[in-house]
Amino acid sequence: VPAGAASCRMRSSSKRLAKQAIDRALAEGVLLRSAQHPSSSDVVTYAPFTLFPSPVPSALLEQAYAVQMDFNILVDAVSQNPAFLEQTLSSTIKKDDYTARLFDIYKQVLKEGIAQTVFLGLNRSDYMFQCGADGSKALKQIEINTISASFGGLASRTPAVHRHVLNVLNKTKEASKILSNNPSKGLALGIAKAWELYGSANAVVLLIAQEKERNIFDQRAVENELLDRKIHVIRGRFEDVSERGSLDQNRRLFMDDQEVAVVYFRDGYMPSQYNSQNWEARLMLERSRAAKCPDIAIQLAGTKKVQQELSRVGLLEALLPGQPEAVARLRATFAGLYSLDMGEEGDQAIAEALAAPSHFVLKPQREGGGNNLYGEEMVQALEQLKDSEERASYILMEKIEPEPFRNCLLRPGSPAQVVQCISELGIFGVYVRQGTTLVMNKHVGHLLRTKAVEHADGGVAAGVAVLDNPYPV
Ligand code: ADP
Ligand code: MG
Repeated sequence: VPAGAASCRMRSSSKRLAKQAIDRALAEGVLLRSAQHPSSSDVVTYAPFTLFPSPVPSALLEQAYAVQMDFNILVDAVSQNPAFLEQTLSSTIKKDDYTARLFDIYKQVLKEGIAQTVFLGLNRSDYMFQCGADGSKALKQIEINTISASFGGLASRTPAVHRHVLNVLNKTKEASKILSNNPSKGLALGIAKAWELYGSANAVVLLIAQEKERNIFDQRAVENELLDRKIHVIRGRFEDVSERGSLDQNRRLFMDDQEVAVVYFRDGYMPSQYNSQNWEARLMLERSRAAKCPDIAIQLAGTKKVQQELSRVGLLEALLPGQPEAVARLRATFAGLYSLDMGEEGDQAIAEALAAPSHFVLKPQREGGGNNLYGEEMVQALEQLKDSEERASYILMEKIEPEPFRNCLLRPGSPAQVVQCISELGIFGVYVRQGTTLVMNKHVGHLLRTKAVEHADGGVAAGVAVLDNPYPV
């Protein structure tokens, strides 16, 4: 496979191969709406992808799958632990308005009493493969996404594209090594279970969506799986919730006359997606009896500050008592994570990052790509933040250095690009809890995203990474 990638720039046969791959991607439904018309499906393009699958050590792929149920349990435990969330986020919410807003809603819901009885986590834990000096590879978590984890739909359609490419090259044995994958089906099964436990046959699933949504086909994959199970999905913006949503005296949620059993957020994960009306709508949804995916506690459990705190000695043991094996599996995936709270510990972390900037990443409490700071930018930010309490709204993280490899990136409107690349592996996890009983806990598939090494940050939606498949090695 790498040999094919290396020659991709030179030969016209490779250009032909790229065209075939693109047509297969379109035929399979590896689609995005166009950047010019993000509200309309009249004009679509293929989602960017690699011409070839990329090498992933099979042992690390297995490890990532094996630890996913532990991460689900960990998210569930954190989300049920108000003391831990309060303590962990206390310094951050003083200086980060967005996290403070989320936390306000959390407090209001706790104070009123939680009406929700069915809890649903749809997570994606992301990893890179740290390359040691001896060439060994280690699985290191980048972050866990507990809200709007995307590309589970499109990821089920890319294996056929890479098999096609390999079959064109008569590499049938290699083609058969491309794993089948169907995360959107697993996500839908989680939603379906929550819907069923909610227990109202006429209730629907409300998918909170943006009007301008290029990635609609990814969302539709989940919707389609639900409809196959006779569960109806309505799409609505926060604005629609404000205008048409209401709670009855039992805090059952209605859109017009339609009862809502499950709310699935594909919006609401960054500050720019909220105005005061949207915050009001979010509060109403959180107060409701409907199963939210995620509810505000699960969203907070996915913050980078929580991730950093979880790496502290003894924390996992305290949150998951009597589960030493799960703790060991989780801890093995943690990279170096450092608090920037005021005090000696934070001072020392800043000093170390300033002394060796290329080994660190500075992260604010944001999702969606493009927010982290690296290199010279990180140094400038640290110099500026150093003596201010604002620094507590960030965390520092060890920078993972994967071994680059060559692949060919295919993007609509640009010539095929053969470049040095690195990959990020995501594993989708689903859990459902009813009261205190965990009813479902599983991994449901994977996502490989690959980008040119020169890009420090950014996902597929940000136009940096492209869709890929693991080629197990
Ligand atoms: P977001 O919530 O914006 O997706 P991430 O923590 O996933 O934030 O970071 C965005 C991107 O930055 C990742 O997809 C990865 O490419 C890069 N990145 C993040 N953390 C690290 C790290 N510790 N080492 C190397 N690259 C990282
Ligand atoms: Mg990310």
